[in-house]
Amino acid sequence: DLVTVGELLIDFTPVPSVDRPTFQQNAGGAPANVVTVAALMGKKTAFIGKVGDDAFGRFLCKTLTSYGVDTSGLVMSEEFPTTLAFVHLDDSGERSFSFFRHLSADVMLNTSELRMQVIENTKVFHFGSVSMTEDPSRTSTIEAIQAARVNGAIITFDPNLRPALWRNQDEAKEQILNVLPYVDVLKISDEELSFLTGETTFQAGALSLKKQYQNISVILVTLGAKGCYYLAVCGEGSVPSFPVNPVDTTGAGDAFMGTFISGLLDTGKRPTELHQEELVNIIRAANTSGALTTTRPGGIPALPTREEVVDFMNK
Ligand code: ADP
Repeated sequence: DLVTVGELLIDFTPVPSVDRPTFQQNAGGAPANVVTVAALMGKKTAFIGKVGDDAFGRFLCKTLTSYGVDTSGLVMSEEFPTTLAFVHLDDSGERSFSFFRHLSADVMLNTSELRMQVIENTKVFHFGSVSMTEDPSRTSTIEAIQAARVNGAIITFDPNLRPALWRNQDEAKEQILNVLPYVDVLKISDEELSFLTGETTFQAGALSLKKQYQNISVILVTLGAKGCYYLAVCGEGSVPSFPVNPVDTTGAGDAFMGTFISGLLDTGKRPTELHQEELVNIIRAANTSGALTTTRPGGIPALPTREEVVDFMNK
């Protein structure tokens, strides 16, 4: 149903304890989180990327497999180490990252290492973030998108722009704008939207992208605790999230996206065919998933199951 390509890394999240803070070692990386959420929602999933052939890489591969994600497209590199990220949390659960990623495996995925069989039959192909920052992974990602498109897949994209990852802002903007012509569903935060378009409101930003890239049939602007604004072929509007007590917002956007994709797959429709009511229902589930994720620490272990999302929505 869903294939994602991109980063798979270890994130070290601080865990408060009585005497001294410790770190929890978690599997993370935006597209890896997205694919895991979709697996938790009951979808058939596969991940394409590269990790080091080291203890971290093996842990990551085992983690995805334990959620039922097909890892036959995950390359274990003998040459490059697995990427490590260190999460800093402020009092409200907002996070920032430091990366140990000099020549790390996830941006070293070569075109020749892409397993095309994994891509050929998928209904949705999702990509984003670090795989776009550098070659060779940038070229490989674009090649994978093309292969998925030829086979009729719906293309979803989350730029997941973290300025610290890019050598310069102009390059970041250019690379993100370069791939928008391939995209059917764009998930973007309001900060990213103003960075890309220069517009001061997210409504104006979304409208400007929609006009320029008519191929994008659904734009989802995630607004943290405020939920999501959407601009789609079927209409536009806001869908509020649910009140929660956040402890760690890591992965909320990915949980949102994985749940959105899963809901889209449930309809069996292309994004252009969605009715507004269907779209709003999918976004409501996605908001729930994002909100639940903020209530637990860590990346992949914080992601909710389908039952948790359904139970929370019915409360
Ligand atoms: P990102 O910036 O990574 O895209 P957000 O922080 O906007 O992600 O979170 C994604 C979604 O998760 C939001 O659209 C919202 O539905 C939900 N969410 C995030 N933070 C909260 C919160 N504090 N309270 C309720 N829902 C939240």
